Amino acid sequence: MLSVDEALQQVLSRAVPRAPRVRPSCEALGLVLAEDVASDVDSPPHDKAMVDGYAVIAEDLPDGSAELEVLEEVTAGAVPTRALTHGGATRIMTGAPVPEGADAIVMIEQTELATASGQPSRVRISGAKVVARQNIMRRAESMARGDVVLRAGARLRPVELGVLAEVGRVEVQVVDFPTLAVLPTGNELVPPVKVPAPGQIRNSNGPMLVAAATAAGADAVDLGIAVDDPDALRAAIARGLESDVLLIAGGVSAGVLDLVPGVLADLGVERVFHKVNLKPGKPLWFGVRRCAGSDTLVFGLPGNPVSSLVCFELFVRPAIGRMAGRDAALAESTAALTDDFSHRSDRPTYYPARLANQLGRVTIEPLDWQGSADLRTLVEANALACFPAGRQQFHAGEMIRVLRLPDAG
Ligand code: AMP
Ligand code: MG
Repeated sequence: MLSVDEALQQVLSRAVPRAPRVRPSCEALGLVLAEDVASDVDSPPHDKAMVDGYAVIAEDLPDGSAELEVLEEVTAGAVPTRALTHGGATRIMTGAPVPEGADAIVMIEQTELATASGQPSRVRISGAKVVARQNIMRRAESMARGDVVLRAGARLRPVELGVLAEVGRVEVQVVDFPTLAVLPTGNELVPPVKVPAPGQIRNSNGPMLVAAATAAGADAVDLGIAVDDPDALRAAIARGLESDVLLIAGGVSAGVLDLVPGVLADLGVERVFHKVNLKPGKPLWFGVRRCAGSDTLVFGLPGNPVSSLVCFELFVRPAIGRMAGRDAALAESTAALTDDFSHRSDRPTYYPARLANQLGRVTIEPLDWQGSADLRTLVEANALACFPAGRQQFHAGEMIRVLRLPDAG
């Protein structure tokens, strides 16, 4: 049986970044940039007032005070019409261009306007020493026209979308989200709106996997529940193969109605591996459907919800990351066990746990988990504690490998 690392390598070697395409920048949040972006403007476009106040000549206020004649008022969006000469000041608002001749702005809080009717207004300034360039941002100080402001490979966060807007890029080349379809299977499943009849349970995997894939950066759709019947599965899986990634939940173990591997083979999906040495998640099936131009990665996830989520974190999330042009590394680290813990398994186990930072010491507390059908306990988890196969006793303070669950708090 493959180890988790070997299986992940098999998956990642088949997960190729999607071809770049142009998208409206307002729809590009979370995507990876596929081009360098240069500015088409200087920013700021002019020497700019950074406070509301008066533009002055610093030399006119050797000790910080003076009474000056107000030449005009310039608000943001307007431009000065008069150059400043000694003895003058221009009332100026934040963002407005600094008039020619001025070399400092005094904050309005340090001034008092004296208005005499019929007379030019005068302003009395008294405050701290005035130094040249104070409260002025120079033209192009943030970026000059032609400067590369964002590099290919950057992940577009809100701040990058702000910079794209500043440089006038309403469209941008990005690595698009991979498309992904989720297909829950099982005769026992009913949709969440229904009250299960005897023998039935609600489909929790479908909504959970769509949400996990969306949060991981895929363009995910739910194909709805397929019953354990070869024809029904064939039709539903064929639809799923139109996506870059297909997640099938259930039907890949050793039961009499675990029909998924056979149907995948019928549909020409090439098996890469079936079963991984891990707990929960051993029945995982992975294969590729080759198709000119765009292969589909097919994951047959075990039906138990915790198993399917663990397999999602270990294999599907990295694949989505790689296809979207991002880093595919797992969020792994180590932490000290909070308490003694005994655990018996012949397979490496990923155990729901709570990762905490206590006065700079990172600790991990395995939760009281009832196995792969106990999704509820996973609500409390923000990590998986990774226990190696074979050993039974682990001691408080022992360093344990952990995998952070990126969507958890
Ligand atoms: P399977 O892998 O199909 O043998 O399913 C294993 C277990 O997971 C069974 O107890 C199923 O009832 C359960 N299961 C399968 N699919 C789902 C689902 N979509 N939501 C919740 N439980 C499921
Ligand atoms: Mg089943």
